[in-house]
Amino acid sequence: MEDTINLLGHALRRAVGVIAAVQGWGQAAGTAVLAGMAGAPQLAASSLKAALDRDWDDPAARDEALAEVLGLLGRVEAFIAGAAGSDAARACLTVAHQVRDQDVDLTGPAPALRRGVARDRRISVEDGDMRHGRKTRSVLFDGYKRHVLRDLDTGLVTAVGITPANVPEAAVAGGISADLDAAGLTLAELHIDRAYLSSALVRERGPDLAIFCKAWQVRNTTGRYAKDQFTIDFAAGQLTCPAGVSMAFQPGTTVHFPKHTCAACPLRQRCTTSPSGRSVAIHPDEALLAELREYQATPIGRAKLRERVKVEHALAHVGHWQGRRARYRGTRKNLFDLRRIAVVHNLHVIARQATTGGYQLTA
Ligand code: SF4
Repeated sequence: MEDTINLLGHALRRAVGVIAAVQGWGQAAGTAVLAGMAGAPQLAASSLKAALDRDWDDPAARDEALAEVLGLLGRVEAFIAGAAGSDAARACLTVAHQVRDQDVDLTGPAPALRRGVARDRRISVEDGDMRHGRKTRSVLFDGYKRHVLRDLDTGLVTAVGITPANVPEAAVAGGISADLDAAGLTLAELHIDRAYLSSALVRERGPDLAIFCKAWQVRNTTGRYAKDQFTIDFAAGQLTCPAGVSMAFQPGTTVHFPKHTCAACPLRQRCTTSPSGRSVAIHPDEALLAELREYQATPIGRAKLRERVKVEHALAHVGHWQGRRARYRGTRKNLFDLRRIAVVHNLHVIARQATTGGYQLTA
């Protein structure tokens, strides 16, 4: 992935290259000539950072180089205004502005790189959909997330989805549902990773769809009463604490027990240290989570959860064929690529079934 200075340089070089192409120059030679005419000869170098030649470990030198690149942005902008091909080149400058606005702090006496990563940060000039993503707290990745729906009985992949890496998994539900509808398929069981628990497929499920998922553990790191030591009556909408105090609740809200009641409670030391009294957050799908926790505590429930391993196998198979890098630019084309790989996966599955069934597919 390119850093801010390279992203800006890349967008500017593209803008000049577009003008060069429209005016009939060769891309490389034209970019060099026009970059010089624009007063930005650094853009003609094979590496903008080499052309800027700074000590990149020195923050002051880095900010100085950043100011120089922003100066190039102004010069290129002035140069292409009114030039043939300026409309196409302006799109490249829009990308440069996006990179500047997300990564550069312009409020100080001199431009400086912002600390931290901007929300929904653009990470590629060529692909506007790619984003930074996080697999775990410490494992980061860039690009897209791949989503696969595998039929646990047949092994076939029946629907797939692609989302930018920073989009929550649950957001893919609309695309997956559309694929299922187009294929005339309905779900009887859904074995999912818990990142999909908040998806519309789960939230808006009918009574005929069973959800299987490893629910989050209920923990209280302070050693005091955890949520599962409170009684939740979903039918009555009542939450009852270990001391027998009941409060009404709505899913997706936080219940606050009265501070005076908690202050006088003999169980207070084992429940809360807050002077405002104990509070308990109720998940929007708390009833489902409670059901899942109860189920995974049984041998049958744990065996059912293990069935999802087959989905991981399908993901590994699809990953093997598609590779780890996005082959195309943009969500749409990468979704097309994933669908193509799903077909390859399905052909392998069908071929294996035909072989084990005692006959061989022939070309
Ligand atoms: S401290 Fe409050 S919430 Fe906790 S057990 Fe006592 S009354 Fe219930």
